[in-house]
Amino acid sequence: MLGEVAANEVINEVILLMGPPGAGKGTQAKLLAEARELSRISTGDMLRDQVARCTELGRQAKKVMDAGELVPDRLMIAMIRYELEHMVPTRILLDGFPRTTAQAEALDCLLAEHGADITAAVLLEVGEEELIRRLSGRALREGRSDDQVETIRRRLEVYREKTRSLVDYYQKRGRLRRVEGLGAVGEVCKRIDEVLP
Ligand code: AMP
Repeated sequence: MLGEVAANEVINEVILLMGPPGAGKGTQAKLLAEARELSRISTGDMLRDQVARCTELGRQAKKVMDAGELVPDRLMIAMIRYELEHMVPTRILLDGFPRTTAQAEALDCLLAEHGADITAAVLLEVGEEELIRRLSGRALREGRSDDQVETIRRRLEVYREKTRSLVDYYQKRGRLRRVEGLGAVGEVCKRIDEVLP
């Protein structure tokens, strides 16, 4: 997923892409990473890769993901720590991490160890009806096992319970950038680009 970069290189740009499930984070993250030459770290993709390879972590993660819950913080933080320590890229786009306050605090510490800070936390905003419509459509098209109706509902609840508070977290630090997530893919991508330095 990441190119190998000498471990002593400095991290000088860290962009977070946040938003509820179905907001288009994955699609926008890929476009943004390409356009700005950022190394994309998607925790969802990393977990799906573990599931596909039938590793022990994948086996545990699949149960949690299929239930619409979050994988425990200690596992997620360890995954990100590993990425940052072993393949230190200089410009990073985080897609799907952090999702809890504990993860956000751990990320601040990990970045501080590399003398880095968050450049911007982009929040993709999409109303709940539209989210359900999109996620149900994706279930039919892609057959993702966590896109079943009950799981969709639970993932949205988990977002409200655990992840939404990160909006305040980054707002207080002056890092939050809100972006309307409704519209054509290219249009949303342009909006994101405009709020970034
Ligand atoms: P995503 O592709 O980002 O929607 O992630 C799919 C699923 O992977 C989520 O519903 C969670 O179960 C799990 N997951 C991904 N990222 C995280 C994270 N940062 N913390 C906990 N669980 C995660």
